[in-house]
Amino acid sequence: MSRSLSIFGATGSVGEQTLDLVRRNRADWNVVALTANSNVAALADTAREFAAEVAVVADERHLDDLRDALAGSGIEAAAGRSALCEAAARPVDMTVAAIVGCAGLGPVMAAIEQSGTIALANKEALVSAGEVMTAAVDRHGATLLPVDSEHNAIFQCLQGGELADVRSITLTASGGPLRLVEDLSAVTPEQAIAHPNWDMGAKISVDSATMFNKGLELIEAHHLFPVGLDRIRIVVHPQSVIHSMVEYRDGSTLAQLGPSDMRVPIASCLAWPARMDTPMAPLDLPAIGEMSFFAPDEVRFPATRLAREAAQAGGAAPAVLNAANEIAVAAFLDRKIPFSRIALLVEDVLNQGDLPSPPQTLEDVLRVDEDARALAMRMLEPA
Ligand code: NDP
Repeated sequence: MSRSLSIFGATGSVGEQTLDLVRRNRADWNVVALTANSNVAALADTAREFAAEVAVVADERHLDDLRDALAGSGIEAAAGRSALCEAAARPVDMTVAAIVGCAGLGPVMAAIEQSGTIALANKEALVSAGEVMTAAVDRHGATLLPVDSEHNAIFQCLQGGELADVRSITLTASGGPLRLVEDLSAVTPEQAIAHPNWDMGAKISVDSATMFNKGLELIEAHHLFPVGLDRIRIVVHPQSVIHSMVEYRDGSTLAQLGPSDMRVPIASCLAWPARMDTPMAPLDLPAIGEMSFFAPDEVRFPATRLAREAAQAGGAAPAVLNAANEIAVAAFLDRKIPFSRIALLVEDVLNQGDLPSPPQTLEDVLRVDEDARALAMRMLEPA
């Protein structure tokens, strides 16, 4: 029997890779909702190909174009933030949350409220909403399956023991494309998004270059696997073969290995708790040859320190860090600030005055996010 599926961020890197797996196993899936921000052509093509029930663009200015592109197909067209949340409230067996940024938080929360199973790629949503989201998951009996390759690796390694028996969790980091670049002030967007191992969207690629990706992942891991922040470590492993590790109190360390291809963790979520075929070649360890490991350099790349401090501070701090980083990355990609200003801006926003009080609701998180964005934008204005 086929299972129902909705994909939020269907036109992005994770969304497309999810659709690739669905295409290979077409009879297993019945697609309900597909969404994009503004890429109407790709969204409409995909919605037609998979005979979706509804297609939604977040940017309302594109609704007429979407209606035109879907004319005669019988597929509903909708637009705007509330339409995204309404689509996420349609009950499905699996929701893939692959919108980039805190913009994906509303749909994730709507899917959680349906007590659904959510394959979560959208790390910024969990970083910003932290306790609000995990409390909602508990309250509604929803299931969060981590798509992020590191968290998916940890999730798989935790099948080998109890959380109470975990001594430490190690998140591996490739170190990004700039690990060995001396002058970070001259880095261009093209250099920053040219990741050595992974083919990803622009924002997460810049996050990998600054190491904010690992910082966000640290906070994500802290919420998904509550073993205590001091037990979650980061190690740079440039080959990206080991995707993360769990060490148990008896001294056993379990690791998950695989190719640098997001279809592996996505497939793990889609088939969970079973397994499914993917087009991956078998892991060829002799061809890989050597694996190396280093401590992160938090002087050149302060992002992981900032994220750890934000996670320790708790409350609104992670949402502020995330919002400031989203603004800084967008400004860098627009060539308005140099690469080296990204972490400085995030630190300045975090250090500006008192932090807002800890968010208790989705609306509180969205307010913190909006205010931190506004503050970051003001700090970017010329004096
Ligand atoms: P992309 O930039 O490739 O795709 C983002 C998707 O979100 C697109 O469908 C885009 O639509 C949509 N989108 C963008 N802005 C908005 C908005 N304001 N409202 C609604 N939808 C929006 O991102 P990735 O696929 O690389 O990343 C998605 C998420 O997954 C991120 O949180 C990232 O950190 C995480 N992730 C990604 C990995 C990867 O390999 N790419 C690995 C692990 C995690 P449109 O096409 O119209 O712009």
